[in-house]
Amino acid sequence: MTPEGWAAQGVQFGGGMSEARHEHTFVWDGEELLPCVCGADMMAIESVLTAAADDSRRVAGEGHYTGCRLRQESETVELWMCDAPSRILRALEAMHHGVYLIHNDAPRPYTTVLELMDALPVDRLKAEGIHIVRVGPTHDGYLHVSVMGDVPTAQARLDAMYAEDVAQVKYGEPAIAC
Ligand SMILES: [Zn+2]
Repeated sequence: MTPEGWAAQGVQFGGGMSEARHEHTFVWDGEELLPCVCGADMMAIESVLTAAADDSRRVAGEGHYTGCRLRQESETVELWMCDAPSRILRALEAMHHGVYLIHNDAPRPYTTVLELMDALPVDRLKAEGIHIVRVGPTHDGYLHVSVMGDVPTAQARLDAMYAEDVAQVKYGEPAIAC
Protein backbone atom coordinates (compact mmCIF):
# COMPACT_ATOMS: atom_id res chain seq x y z
CA MET A 1 0.00 0.00 0.00
CA THR A 2 1.22 3.53 -0.77
CA PRO A 3 1.66 6.25 1.84
CA GLU A 4 -1.46 7.88 0.40
CA GLY A 5 -3.32 4.61 0.80
CA TRP A 6 -2.39 4.34 4.45
CA ALA A 7 -3.25 7.99 5.00
CA ALA A 8 -6.69 7.39 3.53
CA GLN A 9 -7.23 4.79 6.26
CA GLY A 10 -6.03 7.20 8.93
CA VAL A 11 -2.68 5.47 9.42
CA GLN A 12 0.55 7.40 9.31
CA PHE A 13 3.13 5.87 7.03
CA GLY A 14 6.67 5.37 8.34
CA GLY A 15 8.95 3.29 10.51
CA GLY A 16 9.10 4.06 14.26
CA MET A 17 11.47 6.85 15.06
CA SER A 18 13.04 8.71 12.20
CA GLU A 19 16.68 7.96 11.61
CA ALA A 20 17.71 11.44 12.59
CA ARG A 21 15.85 11.34 15.90
CA HIS A 22 16.96 7.92 17.10
CA GLU A 23 19.71 8.02 19.67
CA HIS A 24 21.66 4.83 20.08
CA THR A 25 21.94 3.18 23.44
CA PHE A 26 25.00 1.08 24.13
CA VAL A 27 24.96 -1.13 27.19
CA TRP A 28 27.97 -2.59 28.92
CA ASP A 29 26.98 -6.10 30.00
CA GLY A 30 30.03 -6.64 32.17
CA GLU A 31 32.14 -8.16 29.43
CA GLU A 32 31.49 -6.22 26.26
CA LEU A 33 29.68 -3.20 24.92
CA LEU A 34 26.50 -4.48 23.31
CA PRO A 35 25.31 -3.01 20.01
CA CYS A 36 22.26 -0.77 20.07
CA VAL A 37 18.93 -2.55 19.48
CA CYS A 38 18.98 -1.05 15.96
CA GLY A 39 22.19 -2.97 15.28
CA ALA A 40 24.57 -0.01 15.45
CA ASP A 41 27.99 -0.87 16.81
CA MET A 42 29.73 1.71 18.98
CA MET A 43 33.27 0.91 17.86
CA ALA A 44 32.31 1.12 14.17
CA ILE A 45 30.61 4.46 14.73
CA GLU A 46 33.53 5.72 16.76
CA SER A 47 36.06 4.98 14.03
CA VAL A 48 33.97 6.95 11.52
CA LEU A 49 33.59 9.86 13.92
CA THR A 50 37.27 9.86 14.86
CA ALA A 51 38.20 10.20 11.19
CA ALA A 52 35.74 13.08 10.82
CA ALA A 53 37.15 14.74 13.94
CA ASP A 54 40.72 14.45 12.62
CA ASP A 55 39.65 15.93 9.29
CA SER A 56 37.90 18.83 11.00
CA ARG A 57 41.07 19.80 12.81
CA ARG A 58 43.15 19.59 9.65
CA VAL A 59 40.66 21.45 7.44
CA ALA A 60 39.83 24.17 9.96
CA GLY A 61 43.51 24.75 10.70
CA GLU A 62 45.12 26.22 13.77
CA GLY A 63 43.52 29.60 13.26
CA HIS A 64 39.94 28.32 13.49
CA TYR A 65 39.84 24.89 15.15
CA THR A 66 38.74 25.04 18.79
CA GLY A 67 37.64 21.56 19.77
CA CYS A 68 35.26 18.72 19.19
CA ARG A 69 33.33 16.02 20.96
CA LEU A 70 32.27 12.68 19.54
CA ARG A 71 28.59 11.91 20.01
CA GLN A 72 28.32 8.21 19.30
CA GLU A 73 24.66 8.11 20.31
CA SER A 74 23.66 10.43 17.45
CA GLU A 75 26.56 9.59 15.09
CA THR A 76 27.69 13.20 15.02
CA VAL A 77 30.82 15.19 15.77
CA GLU A 78 30.06 18.33 17.72
CA LEU A 79 32.60 20.81 16.44
CA TRP A 80 33.58 24.19 17.84
CA MET A 81 35.38 26.65 15.63
CA CYS A 82 36.33 30.27 15.89
CA ASP A 83 35.10 32.38 12.94
CA ALA A 84 35.66 29.73 10.30
CA PRO A 85 34.94 31.09 6.81
CA SER A 86 32.16 29.47 4.79
CA ARG A 87 34.63 27.69 2.48
CA ILE A 88 35.77 25.64 5.51
CA LEU A 89 32.18 24.85 6.48
CA ARG A 90 31.45 23.76 2.90
CA ALA A 91 34.60 21.64 2.70
CA LEU A 92 33.74 19.80 5.91
CA GLU A 93 30.17 19.18 4.83
CA ALA A 94 31.43 17.82 1.50
CA MET A 95 33.86 15.46 3.23
CA HIS A 96 31.49 14.14 5.90
CA HIS A 97 27.94 14.96 4.92
CA GLY A 98 25.62 15.48 7.87
CA VAL A 99 28.16 14.42 10.47
CA TYR A 100 29.10 17.75 12.01
CA LEU A 101 27.12 19.75 14.48
CA ILE A 102 29.01 23.02 14.19
CA HIS A 103 29.33 25.93 16.61
CA ASN A 104 31.27 28.60 14.78
CA ASP A 105 31.18 31.11 17.63
CA ALA A 106 33.92 29.79 19.92
CA PRO A 107 35.80 32.66 21.59
CA ARG A 108 39.26 31.50 20.47
CA PRO A 109 41.03 28.62 18.72
CA TYR A 110 42.57 25.68 20.55
CA THR A 111 46.15 26.95 20.07
CA THR A 112 45.28 30.17 21.88
CA VAL A 113 43.82 28.23 24.79
CA LEU A 114 47.10 26.29 25.00
CA GLU A 115 49.07 29.55 25.04
CA LEU A 116 46.90 30.86 27.85
CA MET A 117 47.42 27.59 29.69
CA ASP A 118 51.20 27.81 29.32
CA ALA A 119 51.13 31.35 30.65
CA LEU A 120 49.32 30.34 33.82
CA PRO A 121 51.62 31.24 36.74
CA VAL A 122 50.77 28.21 38.86
CA ASP A 123 53.48 28.80 41.49
CA ARG A 124 52.73 32.48 41.87
CA LEU A 125 49.04 31.76 42.32
CA LYS A 126 49.84 29.03 44.83
CA ALA A 127 51.82 31.59 46.84
CA GLU A 128 48.65 33.72 46.82
CA GLY A 129 46.68 30.78 48.21
CA ILE A 130 45.12 29.64 44.94
CA HIS A 131 45.98 25.98 44.65
CA ILE A 132 45.46 24.77 41.07
CA VAL A 133 45.12 21.00 40.80
CA ARG A 134 44.09 20.60 37.17
CA VAL A 135 44.07 22.71 34.03
CA GLY A 136 43.12 22.05 30.43
CA PRO A 137 41.24 23.29 27.39
CA THR A 138 37.48 22.87 27.12
CA HIS A 139 35.88 21.71 23.85
CA ASP A 140 34.40 25.15 23.34
CA GLY A 141 37.46 27.35 23.75
CA TYR A 142 37.83 28.11 27.44
CA LEU A 143 40.49 27.32 29.96
CA HIS A 144 39.23 24.85 32.54
CA VAL A 145 40.91 25.35 35.91
CA SER A 146 40.25 23.16 38.95
CA VAL A 147 41.27 24.63 42.29
CA MET A 148 41.23 23.47 45.86
CA GLY A 149 39.77 26.15 48.02
CA ASP A 150 37.57 29.12 47.28
CA VAL A 151 36.29 29.06 43.70
CA PRO A 152 34.94 32.65 43.45
CA THR A 153 38.26 34.08 44.68
CA ALA A 154 40.21 32.05 42.14
CA GLN A 155 37.76 32.97 39.37
CA ALA A 156 38.09 36.67 40.16
CA ARG A 157 41.87 36.44 40.22
CA LEU A 158 42.01 34.69 36.84
CA ASP A 159 39.45 37.08 35.34
CA ALA A 160 41.71 39.95 36.43
CA MET A 161 44.79 38.21 35.08
CA TYR A 162 43.48 37.21 31.64
CA ALA A 163 40.15 38.80 30.91
CA GLU A 164 36.69 37.73 31.82
CA ASP A 165 35.40 34.92 29.65
CA VAL A 166 38.68 32.99 29.52
CA ALA A 167 38.99 30.76 32.58
CA GLN A 168 36.23 28.56 33.96
CA VAL A 169 37.10 27.71 37.53
CA LYS A 170 35.68 24.67 39.27
CA TYR A 171 36.43 23.03 42.57
CA GLY A 172 38.71 20.02 42.33
CA GLU A 173 40.74 17.61 44.43
CA PRO A 174 44.22 16.55 43.43
CA ALA A 175 44.43 13.25 41.57
CA ILE A 176 45.58 10.40 43.78
CA ALA A 177 48.64 8.66 42.43
CA CYS A 178 48.24 4.93 42.20
ZN1 LIG B 1 20.42 2.64 17.64
